[in-house]
Amino acid sequence: MSTSTVSTALTEPVAVTAGTILSVRDLWVEYRAERGMVQAVRGVNFDLRKGESLALIGESGSGKTTLAVALIRLLTKTARVPRGTVTYWRNGREVDVLALGAEDLRRFRWKECAMVFQSALNSLNPVLKVWDQMYDTVRYHESMSKDAAWQRSLEVLQMVQLDAARVLNSYPHELSGGMRQRVLLAMGLLLNPQVLLLDEPTTALDILTQRSIINLLRQLKATLGFSTIFISHDLSLAAELADRVATMYAGQVVELGEVRDIFYRPRHPYTLGLLQAVPSLTAGESEMVSIPGSPPDLIDLPSGCKFHPRCTYAIERCRAEEPALLTVGPQHGAACLRWAQVAQDREHVETQRA
Ligand code: SF4
Repeated sequence: MSTSTVSTALTEPVAVTAGTILSVRDLWVEYRAERGMVQAVRGVNFDLRKGESLALIGESGSGKTTLAVALIRLLTKTARVPRGTVTYWRNGREVDVLALGAEDLRRFRWKECAMVFQSALNSLNPVLKVWDQMYDTVRYHESMSKDAAWQRSLEVLQMVQLDAARVLNSYPHELSGGMRQRVLLAMGLLLNPQVLLLDEPTTALDILTQRSIINLLRQLKATLGFSTIFISHDLSLAAELADRVATMYAGQVVELGEVRDIFYRPRHPYTLGLLQAVPSLTAGESEMVSIPGSPPDLIDLPSGCKFHPRCTYAIERCRAEEPALLTVGPQHGAACLRWAQVAQDREHVETQRA
């Protein structure tokens, strides 16, 4: 197996990386809407390694959540996957996730790949105690006695540092936002999955609670060894938790690389724009720049590179040609025709700063 995860063309077969637990190839997802088809995910390729943490970053509507939901086949009825594969590696054997029957799919979800959804308040049932919700999850996915389910629930709630017995007997509204988020995390861990998908795990939490959830995630990952894909608007969260980062724009992964490369050596103007829009205590006001324009209409996408209407690097060729993810460094890919110019400009800025 190759060690490269960067495809040189969207339609070219990509070798699977050693130690992979989940691989995604040329995945497309579209939704039917009144105005036409919404192209939510477009030709995504990546491998998730065992124990790795991959962050998906990008503005709202860039396809991050749709991609995550497609991985566990929880797309709405109006969505379809016209092309692509999702492969899970179960004890070294390939499992074609998109072809799983109902029984196998139930095993895959929660037991092998679980998702912690955004907004703890909306994800928990307000009229059921935490225990009832946890027991429902266990019972649906696993044949386990009630006593064993109770013990397992206590165990995972303790793992997320909650007063387990009290929380099991509580309704969601009796818990704080941070506690509810921990409950969701515990539910995700109930059946000991190999892959945990986290959608905005710290959104709507105060800064101190965010910090404790980040520390907790780090500890759990180190102890339990699961892989995570987490979606975040918060680049500082990605910087702290991710091993690799994938930038998404208009449904496509436009940059993919090790966390240090993405933050210190971005090669796609959109990643650069996201980084420059983050307020910093040390940078002057003039260094904080927002990306001009708005994300594209996914029903009526621009020609060529989908970022060209907003890109300060755009040239005529960008309007006609949609670049594939090009190798721009070891384990680093960017879908940009002018990535070398971006690199040169970054070097220039760094030299001036030094
Ligand atoms: S291909 Fe062109 S428009 Fe697209 S990001 Fe690169 S420079 Fe900008």
